[in-house]
Amino acid sequence: MSNTDFALAVEDLTVSFDGFKAIDNLTLYVDKNELRVIIGPNGAGKTTLLDLICGKTRASHGSIKFKNQEMTKLAEHRIVRAGIGRKFQTPSIYENLSVFKNLEVSFPRGRSVFGALAFQCDDEVKQRVQAVADEIGLGDQLETEAGLLSHGQKQWLEIGMLLMQEPELLMLDEPIAGMSVRERELTAELLQRICQGRSVIVIEHDMDFVKRIAHKVTVMHQGKILAEGSMDEVQNDPKVIDVYLGH
Ligand code: ADP
Ligand code: MG
Repeated sequence: MSNTDFALAVEDLTVSFDGFKAIDNLTLYVDKNELRVIIGPNGAGKTTLLDLICGKTRASHGSIKFKNQEMTKLAEHRIVRAGIGRKFQTPSIYENLSVFKNLEVSFPRGRSVFGALAFQCDDEVKQRVQAVADEIGLGDQLETEAGLLSHGQKQWLEIGMLLMQEPELLMLDEPIAGMSVRERELTAELLQRICQGRSVIVIEHDMDFVKRIAHKVTVMHQGKILAEGSMDEVQNDPKVIDVYLGH
């Protein structure tokens, strides 16, 4: 397999904050239709890696190619338009708008020559909103004010807002933090569904959850990759047990 066949190819990536390398010469490839989980101790650089991929932080060195196009010099909105969606740890939904409205405002507009003024066929938007709402388990809550949703439902709504843009790479930072057991189960099922037809990167600490969803696990430590492979392989890797799982 050549490097150009991957959905995402991160190569020799480094970022320094005042001389401290939060990401240190890191190379990582993610396939199409792959659900990759990144684990590692606090401060390993996991969130920083996602910040670099979505353009929130600029690399000091190295390359991030998405579908073979270089991302490191692109503005954040161009990276979104290229097909990369990122969910942050705290949901950024509109609490006083309905579920429907939250999804509707996330429908990508302004891609035509007429920009934001282009009139989008109502039916097309409604159908997409309904399809995404069904996907995230909120299909019968379209009129509910987002602020009234449970914590888990709010997280799903934000995932739905990203899905409205049909990203080809979706990145989620600790998506199940604070969720109930049932919400975690439903989130695992949701992630398994949405990685069909796109790549998904999830940062997570909960090993039972990781076991359920991961196709492949990358273990980060001190800005580098410590191990990579199946859940079984990394769980039995003495280096991983030493710096992470043993604690
Ligand atoms: P993780 O998500 O794996 O817990 P982070 O990516 O948040 O780790 O952080 C990695 C390291 O980089 C930490 O030591 C953190 O303090 C540092 N760091 C992250 N962002 C910045 C920044 N903008 N400026 C300075 N240091 C940062
Ligand atoms: Mg983090």
